[in-house]
Amino acid sequence: MEPSLFTKIIRGEIPSEKIYEDADTFAFLDITPVNPGHVLVIPKLQYETIFEAPKESFAAVMETVRILAPKIKAAMNADGINIAMNNGSAAGQVVPHAHVHIIPRFKDDGREVWHGATYPDGEMKAVAEKIRQSLI
Ligand code: 5GP
Repeated sequence: MEPSLFTKIIRGEIPSEKIYEDADTFAFLDITPVNPGHVLVIPKLQYETIFEAPKESFAAVMETVRILAPKIKAAMNADGINIAMNNGSAAGQVVPHAHVHIIPRFKDDGREVWHGATYPDGEMKAVAEKIRQSLI
């Protein structure tokens, strides 16, 4: 497998502003932040999306997110934090190495998340049933 951009960052072949590292995860500043203090948490094991994620590795990523999110909020004096993961290009993923965004948010910062829509009549139940069936 070709090393991803983020694997090269972990190896130090591409410079980054490292925030945190442990045996399974690495966290660094996003180069084009939504707001200052925007951090990416990545698994050291290279896989593309949550769909390929080994349980232990992804659990380690989420534990690092859990540890860092309140620290980043405090350090940046943020009012809130978005935690997001884009899986697949249709979902906005650009770098094919799984990563979770930790994004500090400030009151009236003008950044947007996404806009919800309402279900047409009866569709909500059908969608819920489709997903429940997929779990069986
Ligand atoms: P995605 O859209 O794949 O969820 O997010 C990829 C993120 O990686 C983007 O927010 C982008 O700014 C960040 N990024 C891309 N290349 C680099 C880089 O070379 N260094 C750092 N620190 N971040 C990068």
